[in-house]
Amino acid sequence: MLFQNALIENSETLSDIRVSDGVFDEILPKAEPLPGEETVDLKGKLVLPPFIESHVHLDACLTAGDPVWNMSGTLFEGIECWSKRKDKLTESDIRERVNRCVRLYAQNGVQHIRTHVDVTDPELTALRTLIALREEMKDVAEIQIVAFPQEGILSYPNGKQLMRDAVALGADCVGAIPHFEFTREYSVESLNFALQLAAENGRLVDVHCDEIDDEASRGLETVAARALELGLFDKVTASHTTAMHSYNNAYVLRLMRLLKMSRINFVANPLVNTHLQGRADTYPKRRGITRVKELLQEGINVSFGHDDIFDPWYPMGNGSLRDVVFMGLHVCQMMGYEEIMNSYRLITQNAAKTLHISERYGIKQGLPANFIVLDAKNWYDALNRNAPVLRSVRGGKTIAETTPGQSKVLV
Ligand SMILES: [Zn+2]
Repeated sequence: MLFQNALIENSETLSDIRVSDGVFDEILPKAEPLPGEETVDLKGKLVLPPFIESHVHLDACLTAGDPVWNMSGTLFEGIECWSKRKDKLTESDIRERVNRCVRLYAQNGVQHIRTHVDVTDPELTALRTLIALREEMKDVAEIQIVAFPQEGILSYPNGKQLMRDAVALGADCVGAIPHFEFTREYSVESLNFALQLAAENGRLVDVHCDEIDDEASRGLETVAARALELGLFDKVTASHTTAMHSYNNAYVLRLMRLLKMSRINFVANPLVNTHLQGRADTYPKRRGITRVKELLQEGINVSFGHDDIFDPWYPMGNGSLRDVVFMGLHVCQMMGYEEIMNSYRLITQNAAKTLHISERYGIKQGLPANFIVLDAKNWYDALNRNAPVLRSVRGGKTIAETTPGQSKVLV
């Protein structure tokens, strides 16, 4: 099949993309159709590698208002709402919601999803269900699963064993939540445990790290030190790190050296952290997002995630990562022309590094023919006009398409 007239990744010149047996066969400025070859004219639209959701909680998605709405919008009331919803958590309930949510993502050009799944559950119901769905939904999206100890590893009964069980069942990544552990000592020990568990079992690591406005929350230095010492390097990701927003600059200067040596990835979640952080502040109110701009300037990998989709902690979300980037650029003050133009990388190439899939991701000859077509000429245009994803192609097959709506001014 020949896809003609694509503007690949902000290129100003057109390309033709030939796909054979589900892989990119040729990418040329102009290709003549072979006898009998099917052609699709992309009409000079923007073509990108598929979007990647590098941080979400699918086990809680699409539960906002069920059974009660979070009236204050705070994290703590979210936990209260969730504890009421948790009673109804069954395999069929999780299946139905995750199916709907992954399909929402598909409409928006997302083909890779890293989901955190709460394993502070003696039955590990959500984890088992997500592991089954990872296989069942692989034609829609590639799902990566993090064993996420929502209530702590040391601070939850049998927490370490639940983490070991989650890895044995097939979790792809080991999580942790150091800022939620009862004590600083537990926090450090939980990280030592999590990274060691990952190293012993050949897993990736993604820690909910310092998601708090407390400048004394310093799980990050332990994550980075263990990533370095255990040789895990870029297999390790620190998500949120919102406390870093509040660290003093002298400490950050010292920390930055270790972060670079450790080669760990960062995930920021601009929608959810702008909404949830700073709640203990009066004025000035902190933005509650990690130092994205400065990390990128130091050559450290950062990707953006949605975190929550219409759940007790975040009452919005339709599976569009465009909104995540849009908010992130504002709140991180990254609105320079080049920053805007290249910001798709926060949900494509940078996220591929986070998921550790870079070597099999991108629009390159010989790789799986996965790409998306946006109703725009470049990413700046797509972002600004909230352009729909016209087509999402996975393994050479179109798995989702959108017909853009039309509006007219009548005067
Ligand atoms: Zn999260």
